[in-house]
Amino acid sequence: MTTHKKGIVLVTGASGGIGRATAETFALAGHPVVLHYYSGKERAEAAAQALSGQGCTVMTQQADLRDSVQVQQMIQRIEQTWGPVDILVNNAGVAQQKLFTDLTDADWRDMFAVHVDGAFYCARAVLPAMIHQKQGCIVNVSSMWGQTGGSCEVHYSAAKGALQAMTKALAKEVGPSGIRVNCVAPGVIVTEMNTRMFDAETLDGLREETPLEKLGTPEDVARMIYFLSTAEAGFITGQIIGVNGGMVI
Ligand code: NAP
Repeated sequence: MTTHKKGIVLVTGASGGIGRATAETFALAGHPVVLHYYSGKERAEAAAQALSGQGCTVMTQQADLRDSVQVQQMIQRIEQTWGPVDILVNNAGVAQQKLFTDLTDADWRDMFAVHVDGAFYCARAVLPAMIHQKQGCIVNVSSMWGQTGGSCEVHYSAAKGALQAMTKALAKEVGPSGIRVNCVAPGVIVTEMNTRMFDAETLDGLREETPLEKLGTPEDVARMIYFLSTAEAGFITGQIIGVNGGMVI
């Protein structure tokens, strides 16, 4: 096992837009970073390779976060190689737009499995070591739809709302152990998740609805996640922080 000066970071969904930017932000700040992916091996490895080329300490790890055994095994592999995870970013997610009455049992279950079960399995797996060390930090990536509710995204909104409630309850439970748990709730961020779902016209409409009259970037969200992990945010826990250009106030 290697010893590191800066905390070991696990970013789930680092093969995607916000996850990759978050992994880059931590890695370039000197943290050893685990870039987790599910099906995007090439994307995760390309990101890791680019970061190692800049002198960063990174590794990639694959797991389906809907499966608690795979999560447990991933955390064990990280602990055996580098040691315990100090900062967990529960970022992985999926999106789907569908009328509520068209949602199948599988749609509903899958949405909760990735967002809620996945965050639960990851947090449960890293917390024993954090509690033992009396320090640690968890940042959950929710959505503004988890705050306000999104039409044709009821299952997504419900899962993201659950993540916000989980953030608050867990922050109360592990605060006395020196562990902070926070949540970011992004607005419309330009990543594949959105470009897959919306055409250019819809994205323009969303831009117009945003008081700052622009869409967010993955880096906008990554900077907030990073801030929440730092000593400057040392008195912040259990909070839901919007990164949404004023769309939800
Ligand atoms: P993205 O580019 O589509 O990336 C999603 C990530 O989640 C990918 O790395 C994907 O892995 C991973 N993932 C999906 N299913 C998984 C599973 N079963 N097990 C493990 N990992 C899985 O999305 P993004 O826009 O960066 O979104 C990141 C987070 O921000 C999500 O939680 C999303 O809900 C939230 N968010 C996004 C926006 C936005 O406007 N983009 C707004 C609010 C909130 P693979 O690609 O490797 O399969």
